[in-house]
Amino acid sequence: MTETGVVVIGGAAMGASLAFWLTRMEPGLPVTVIEPDPSYARSCTALSAASIRQQFSEPVNVAISRFGVEFIRDFARWTGPAGGVPSLGFRENGYLFLADSAAEAERFEALAAMQRSLGAATVVLTPAEIAARFPWIEVAGLQAGSFGPRDEGWFDNMGLVTGLKAAARAQGAQFLRGRVVGLDRDGDRIVAARLEDGSRIAADRFACAAGTAAGAVLRMAGADLPVEPRKRTVFVVDAPKVRQPDAPLIVDPAGYWMRPEHGQWLTATVPDRDGPCDPQDFAPEADEFEALIWERIWARIPDFDQARVTRVWAGHYDFNPVDHNGLVGRHPDLDNMFLLNGFSGHGLQQAPAVGRGVAELMLTGGYVSIDLSDLSAARLTSGARSREQAIV
Ligand SMILES: Cc1cc2nc3c(=O)[nH]c(=O)nc-3n(C[C@H](O)[C@H](O)[C@H](O)COP(=O)(O)OP(=O)(O)OC[C@H]3O[C@@H](n4cnc5c(N)ncnc54)[C@H](O)[C@@H]3O)c2cc1C
Repeated sequence: MTETGVVVIGGAAMGASLAFWLTRMEPGLPVTVIEPDPSYARSCTALSAASIRQQFSEPVNVAISRFGVEFIRDFARWTGPAGGVPSLGFRENGYLFLADSAAEAERFEALAAMQRSLGAATVVLTPAEIAARFPWIEVAGLQAGSFGPRDEGWFDNMGLVTGLKAAARAQGAQFLRGRVVGLDRDGDRIVAARLEDGSRIAADRFACAAGTAAGAVLRMAGADLPVEPRKRTVFVVDAPKVRQPDAPLIVDPAGYWMRPEHGQWLTATVPDRDGPCDPQDFAPEADEFEALIWERIWARIPDFDQARVTRVWAGHYDFNPVDHNGLVGRHPDLDNMFLLNGFSGHGLQQAPAVGRGVAELMLTGGYVSIDLSDLSAARLTSGARSREQAIV
């Protein structure tokens, strides 16, 4: 049996971020990250749309994204030369949430005020203002658009992981190829992780950054966590009459999102029968574009009449069906198990702040920079929870 200080289960965005912050805050701390697939082929991180926004309904998520954008914008300074990634190529095109009812437009005003009070730049546009900024959007039937003119856009997802990992390694973290298949428990503490190859690693503290597998990992210790995989199919679409490289990420109440990517568009929807999927099923739902997306975009963007799918992939959201928010911090029943889970489709942008917050909690016993206690899994039993409304 080997021994380490902290075992991190899963080494994509969340695991790499936690390892980075732990070894930055406490040089010399032995941190071992266990990851079965360093190609990350099926991770949320690699299959994500890699976007960041300030427009959330829960203040804690806005605070997390305030730091997220600072970190992403200035990635090379945070990770240093050892990170080896000079830029995450942040495209600051903004998000545009559209409203087609007066009640939704009113809600946008209240949310924008809350977001601005936390430092975001959200403005609520009238239909005429939307048409003036984005003349290729049909505004008939719209009541308002909530737009983030700065601090929102998209970035290089794998650059984030590569840079965090390299910097964490340079600070002393060890990344081990392996799969955790068991957790040995003594009372309310985990004492060791068992790996697929038969080895065991003992540690003082453990962290679960296993994405959609978080529930399965916690069950290894006889504990529970409501995280399930939800399949999302992403289409790359060429619409030759609508090349808008400066377009924002549009979230339409008709039921899809879209954003520009290298002269084409990325788009996806929530399937009609959404629910937990087979964790091994990554087959794209190829008919969703014609059945659920194309005509809706066409109604909003008349020049989208010519559109051709050039590529498609499916990924799994790390979905928390209870309230669509991350489950972060100490597990209520396991004293030395820390969670970075359940981000419900917005975890990539949250990796910098959540990794830093959990490192603070592990090393000092409390949050120092951003109070993430609203995301504590204790809310699952206390009932003190508030559902994130802005789920894309
Ligand atoms: C289609 C799609 C679009 C998205 N768009 C966005 C977006 O625009 N913006 C945004 O912020 N977020 C987005 N997300 C969500 C975001 O990608 C995730 O929330 C985030 O990447 C979660 O990171 P993670 O490190 O927790 O999980 P993952 O990236 O899934 O990593 C978990 C890792 O744990 C490893 N693991 C699993 N089981 C074990 C085990 N037993 N032992 C050891 N390791 C294990 C896996 O191999 C994996 O590498 C999107 C997700 C999808 C699928």
